[in-house]
Amino acid sequence: MNARRVFLLSLALFSTSVMAQAVDFDRTVRTAKNHEPAIPRPEQDKTAIETLASLRQKQGRRPNILWLVIDDMGYGDPGCYGGGASIGAATPNIDKLARGGMKLTSCYAQQTCTPTRSAILTGRLPVRTGLTRPILAGDKLTKNPWADEVSLAKLLSDSGYSTLLTGKWHVGEPKGMRPQDIGFDEYYGYYPAQKELSQSVDERRYPALMNNPARMRAYEAIAPNNHLIHGFKGGQTNELSQIKSIEDMGRADQVLTDFTIQRIKELAKGDKPFFLEHCFMKVHCDNFPNPDLGPLSDARYYYKEAVVEVDLHVGAIVKALADAGVEENTFVFLTSDNGPQMDGWPDAGFTPFRGVKGTTFEGGVRVPGIAYWKGVIEPDTESNELFDLMDLFGISLTLAGISPDTLPQNRYYDYIDQTSFLIVKNGQSKREVVYNWWGQELMACRMKEFKLHHKVILPKSTHMSIDYSVIQDVGLAPWFFNLYIDPQEQLPVGHRRSPWLASVGTKLKAHAATFKTYPPKNIGL
Ligand code: CA
Repeated sequence: MNARRVFLLSLALFSTSVMAQAVDFDRTVRTAKNHEPAIPRPEQDKTAIETLASLRQKQGRRPNILWLVIDDMGYGDPGCYGGGASIGAATPNIDKLARGGMKLTSCYAQQTCTPTRSAILTGRLPVRTGLTRPILAGDKLTKNPWADEVSLAKLLSDSGYSTLLTGKWHVGEPKGMRPQDIGFDEYYGYYPAQKELSQSVDERRYPALMNNPARMRAYEAIAPNNHLIHGFKGGQTNELSQIKSIEDMGRADQVLTDFTIQRIKELAKGDKPFFLEHCFMKVHCDNFPNPDLGPLSDARYYYKEAVVEVDLHVGAIVKALADAGVEENTFVFLTSDNGPQMDGWPDAGFTPFRGVKGTTFEGGVRVPGIAYWKGVIEPDTESNELFDLMDLFGISLTLAGISPDTLPQNRYYDYIDQTSFLIVKNGQSKREVVYNWWGQELMACRMKEFKLHHKVILPKSTHMSIDYSVIQDVGLAPWFFNLYIDPQEQLPVGHRRSPWLASVGTKLKAHAATFKTYPPKNIGL
C-alpha cells in the first residue's frame, strides 16, 4: 500500500484553501480508535432503536436475520437492476423482493468470494483477517485465520440465536475453519465453489484430468471435499451424498433450498430467534441446469438458467418465512458476493460498469443489495448512498441487541452500523467511503460520487481479468473518476476538473494509517 504517495501528490496539486474544504467534505466522526469513522445521524439512530424496541414488544422476541448470498451474480443480472427478461433471464421473485423493500444501488462487496464471505462475518476487511483471496485446491495455509477472529455467528449464537449456514462456504475446509467450528450451530452445504467441483465430473471440459487415472488420483489428494456436509457445533460432522455427475451439480441448489425451507419451519416454532445465511452455489461457473426443472430462461444458456433457478429459490425461501408466520419479524438481505466472473464467459453475468470479478473497478465490487422486512422497511424505496456488505455485521449486532463495546478492543473494525439507514423512512447512509483492496494492496476508494484508483487491475485480453491480467501503479496522478457523469470509469476528471482529489486522497491516507497500529494478518494466501 502506498497511500502516502497519493496524499503527497494530491498536496502538491492543490492549494491550502481547497484542503480547508476537506473538513466539511468528510462528514465522519471517529468515536473509537479501532473503529471506522461514521457520519453521525443521532436522530435517525434514535428512531431506529425505538422502532426495534416497539417491534420487540409486539413480537416477544428479537428479530430473525436471513441473508441470501448469490455467488458471482452481476449487478446487471436481476430485472430490478436493469437486467432480467431484457437479457434473457427474468427474475420476478428478486424484483418483487426489491419492490417490497429497499434497493441499494451503491452496495459494495470485495472483489472475490472468500474475502467477501469472511468480511461480512467478521466486520473486518480481508487484509486484516488474512483471508485476502479465494482458497483453492492445493493451497497450504500457514495458520488458521479463524483462530483469533470473533465471528458474527459466534456472537449471535452466544447471545441466544440459533445460527445456521446453508450452502457454499469457501472460507476454509480444515477442522477449525468450517462454519460449525467458527460459531454456527449448524452447517448444511458444500465447502467449495462450483468450479472446484466440476473438475471431477465434467469430462468434456476437463478430459485431460478425468481420462487420466493417475492424474485423477493425484488430483483427488488435493481436491476439495465434494460431499454434502451436515455439521454441528461441538458435535458430529457427517458427509452425506457426493457430487458424482453434472446432474448432481445441477440439483445442488434445490437440495440446499429444500433444507433451508424445512429449517425455517422448524426454527420459527422454536423458542429462539434465528440467523440463517443461505449461500447459493449458483450462479458461479461452472453452471449446470437442474434436470428436474426447465428450461427456465428465454436465453437457454446455462448461466441464464441458473439465474432463473436461483430466483425461483429466492421466491420459495421468502414464501417460507410468510408461511411460518415470521415474515414480519425477519430482516432479509439479498446480495451477490462479487461482480460477474468474465473469465468463464458465456457462463458469466452482466454488469453495466467497468471491470468484473477480480478487479476493483466498479464492475468487480458493486453488487445488488436488497433489504426487505415486511412492515418495517418502507416498500418500493431505493438509495444510491454508500453501503458496504461488511455493514451487515453491525446491523446484525444491533438487531440482536449486542453492544459493540463487547467486541475485542485489540483489533480494527471496518463495519458501520447501518440499521437506521435501512429501517428508518428516508434514512441516510452513515458511510462516507468504501475502500477497495486486492490481496495485500490498497487499490482504490469510492467517496460520494468519486472513485480514486491508486493501483489498477487490467486484463491483458478481453474478459480475462483473473487468469490474464496485471496489477499496475497509476501514473503521476491517481485515476479519479466522477461516477455520476462517467459510471463506466473511462474519462478521469483528475486534478483538472475536480477540487476533491486531495480530499479523497486524505481519506485514503487515514485508512492506510490504521494498519500502523493494527497490522494486517498474513496466513500464507
Ligand atoms: Ca463469488
